[in-house]
Amino acid sequence: MSFDLVVFGGTGDLAWRKLLPALFQASRHGKLPAGGRLLALARDERSDDEYRAYIKERFAEVEPSKRPNEEEFARFAQMLHYRRMDVSQPEHYLGLKRWIEEPRADEGRAGGRAKTAVLFMATSPHLFPVICDQLGQAGLNGPHVRLVLEKPLGHDLASAQEINRVVRSAFREEQALRIDHYLGKAAVQNLMALRFGNALFEPLWRRESIANIQITLAEGLGVGKRGDFYDQTGALRDMIQNHALQLLTMIAMEPPSSNDADAIRDEKLKVLRSLKPFTPESVARDVVRGQYKAGTVDGQAVPGYLEEVKVPAGSACETFVALRTEIQNWRWAGVPFYLRTGKRLSGRDAQIVVNFREVPHPIFPGTRQANKLVIKLQPDDGLELHLLAKSGSCSELLSPVSLDLDFDRAFASERVGGYERLLLDAIAGRLNLFVRSDEQEQAWRWVEPVLHAWAGDRTGPRPYSAGSWGPPAASALVARDGYAWAEEQ
Ligand code: NAP
Repeated sequence: MSFDLVVFGGTGDLAWRKLLPALFQASRHGKLPAGGRLLALARDERSDDEYRAYIKERFAEVEPSKRPNEEEFARFAQMLHYRRMDVSQPEHYLGLKRWIEEPRADEGRAGGRAKTAVLFMATSPHLFPVICDQLGQAGLNGPHVRLVLEKPLGHDLASAQEINRVVRSAFREEQALRIDHYLGKAAVQNLMALRFGNALFEPLWRRESIANIQITLAEGLGVGKRGDFYDQTGALRDMIQNHALQLLTMIAMEPPSSNDADAIRDEKLKVLRSLKPFTPESVARDVVRGQYKAGTVDGQAVPGYLEEVKVPAGSACETFVALRTEIQNWRWAGVPFYLRTGKRLSGRDAQIVVNFREVPHPIFPGTRQANKLVIKLQPDDGLELHLLAKSGSCSELLSPVSLDLDFDRAFASERVGGYERLLLDAIAGRLNLFVRSDEQEQAWRWVEPVLHAWAGDRTGPRPYSAGSWGPPAASALVARDGYAWAEEQ
């Protein structure tokens, strides 16, 4: 069935940097249903052709492999449209409705049949209430309409609940698709396949075999020109509450009864509800916050956070968080889960490391390295299983080897990027990879005691040098249990 993808904020950074390139890839890969249209909305007056020229220019800033050539752009441009819209003007919604509902020559006999409309909110969340209210009043909330929401969805539990209340006033839960782009990554899909499509790992996926699990979302970049925005957010809200916790639920959930969205989301919610709650004492003991100071990244001298543009003087905003938690259920009791994220770190690595226990009775001399499974999310997308093997020499010693599943190579012709997959799922109405409101609220409920403890703590974040792996206290957090972060092993 055909579709309309309507982008509120169609001229903004999110639209041209992420959505349009992803949509172009989907079109290049022949994955879009025929006859689809994209309608960009913003307050400027522009024609369709002016918008197409604007997007063509923006593509020059997109990475080369994702840029269209002239012929590809000409084909893609046919589906791009633009409409002036001020979201505070009720009559503009009636115009939008007419545009969506107008029968089109190329629809032939199917014309008039309700077609899917995906409304992507690529605007600031302070506009969500007026947009949802007006969409409801204009009748643009029927069963064929889906609303896609991007982060930030609130800055605490109350504001997240308020956004959900506003959305619910016009749409049903299954019409609201909350994006977490980490869930679109192939390695995360494969984590599900590995766990629930193979019998091999599930018996090992528990406290008896697993020593600890580490989730690292590291960025080499600083806050750039977005210092004022970032300073209101910080690493805990920006990365832990959403991305890191979503990855944790995918790792730790019980096998769902089916591959249906709600069966999966019910299990993820149970994990969030089983996370050990923080107290002021455990925040002081189990959470490390840091802020980068000047240092060197990739051989380049870079300024500290407080020297970045638009960062308020003396800010105590954290650009790094490492924390230790546990999941209070039979499967995971006592297994530490370490979550870590930060800006200006040594590498741009996003990965999950599952560290298995050592063999109970070693018979080989030397190395006693335990097995580990590394789920790589960024920059590469793949799985690595680290084993010990005999090298073939006369030595009795074992050597580490890894089984490397490189999804880029294995499925090169079928590769789909994260945003591309999520957009295609939104169009098709597949909800598995979108976050339900109760999951999102429970994640806020869990991080709030950390925010409260920090608000009353005058010591502020610990400094770390740009280009390092964060404050030494983050290593000490893991060393206390007798373990080490992956790069220190
Ligand atoms: P942006 O570059 O400032 O773009 C905002 C868009 O909204 C523009 O197209 C703007 O166009 C439009 N807009 C603003 N007020 C409007 C109104 N009253 N009526 C109609 N359109 C209006 O912001 P962005 O970076 O794209 O981010 C948008 C949202 O996504 C933010 O909440 C951001 O936090 C989130 N997000 C962004 C990224 C990213 O990579 N940029 C990633 C994840 C999440 P006009 O001003 O011309 O109307």
